[in-house]
Amino acid sequence: MSRPNSTAARDIAHQLHPYTNAVRHAEIGPIVMDRGEGIYVFDDQGNRYIEGLAGLWSVAVGFGEKRLVEAARKQLDKLPYYHTFAHKSHLPSIELAEKLAEMTPEGLSHVFFTNSGSEANDTVIKLVWYYNNALGRPKKKKFLARTQGYHGVTVAAASLTGLPNNHRDFDLPAIPVRHLTCPHFYRFGNPGETEAQFVERLAAELEAVIQEEGADTIAAFIGEPLMSAGGVIPAPEGYWQKVQEICRRYDILVVADEVITGFGRLGTTFGSEHYGIKPDLMVLSKQITSSYQPLAAIMISDDIFKAVADNSGKIGTFGHGYTATGHPVATAVALENLAIIEERKLVENATAMGKVLQARLAKLASHPLVGEVRGVGLIAGVELVADKATKARFAEHGKVGAYVFARAHHHGLIVRNIMDTLAFCPPLIITESQIEEMAQAFERTLDDAAEWIAAGQPAY
Ligand code: PMP
Repeated sequence: MSRPNSTAARDIAHQLHPYTNAVRHAEIGPIVMDRGEGIYVFDDQGNRYIEGLAGLWSVAVGFGEKRLVEAARKQLDKLPYYHTFAHKSHLPSIELAEKLAEMTPEGLSHVFFTNSGSEANDTVIKLVWYYNNALGRPKKKKFLARTQGYHGVTVAAASLTGLPNNHRDFDLPAIPVRHLTCPHFYRFGNPGETEAQFVERLAAELEAVIQEEGADTIAAFIGEPLMSAGGVIPAPEGYWQKVQEICRRYDILVVADEVITGFGRLGTTFGSEHYGIKPDLMVLSKQITSSYQPLAAIMISDDIFKAVADNSGKIGTFGHGYTATGHPVATAVALENLAIIEERKLVENATAMGKVLQARLAKLASHPLVGEVRGVGLIAGVELVADKATKARFAEHGKVGAYVFARAHHHGLIVRNIMDTLAFCPPLIITESQIEEMAQAFERTLDDAAEWIAAGQPAY
């Protein structure tokens, strides 16, 4: 599957790519993306792909959306940059803050802007620490997170992330964090255990960790409403209710990392709405601008804001912020993007098309390679296994998924491989016939994978 051409060779010569095996990359080269339209992207050789992952779980309104280009152009013309430090502001950031306060659940009416989800989660950690310092309880510092949770890659955010490759080789975690069991019943439910019993067990684990560490040392619980980059894992029924009830009892803040679930992905405006979560802090990014511009936002509860603001004399100003915090072009693009999501009723489309997607993928459950099909709204995961009955993984965990990932390109489809779970997260504009097209391309890929396994997994 090598792609030798001069652009690919130039890429290999100079870029270190994120999450890319550099040796393999030098062998096969990149697919060089050239343009996009709707749910499709085109490489520089003219091949068309369905973007089954909306870029990186991002492009809600689709590619080639001229209104976003125009919003960026207008702002670039008028005021391409200004900061928001030291009593300065500008209209796009003011209007976006108002808009987000109006859209998000009641009580989350303050916002801090960053450039990425990772920076937003770093900011969450500092906000929470600042808050507890302001309240005179500096010992309350630890975070609770989950294995397979994903919260980004900066040093502190990567510490919250519960995936081995984010810790291995980096001496992380670097902040005090405890990772709890991933709420994936198919994988971590005990034999004979019901889903309700599984939830009880996870609740007991949470209680036990709090007892062990001492509630006075634990600041916050952070979780994605639906775990995404760790394998598309919907929370089991009742899980979030239990987590919240326990956290409230011990005065532990609840942080909803909605970097992927925010703005319609689950068929509700926020994932918190779907699961009945009432967070103290909510982290948003990706679909906020459809990733046409880098931007993230932390929604802050009135209580936390008040503690920070009221204590500004005592502790000092919130000494944190980026050159591009609230960037005018990014916030202007976000406003237009959110307007498009509303006008075109894309959350409603995600509800309706989500049902179609889940039902269509559920049909794959009978495929010999498929262990579990799971998802909510327009996000889904198809987990491949060596043995359906025992749920046994393939001898080399992730290798079959890697083949499917690469082979799908051949059928004009981009999906993500997460350790043999293939992730789907198409743009929210997707239609029924496009879902069918995507599913058929995936089915063909799965059949190829079955043949490839039968042939002894030859090099490709
Ligand atoms: N949180 C979640 C839930 C994410 O999925 C991601 C990125 N996939 C991040 C945080 C980190 O965001 P970024 O890549 O913009 O730093």
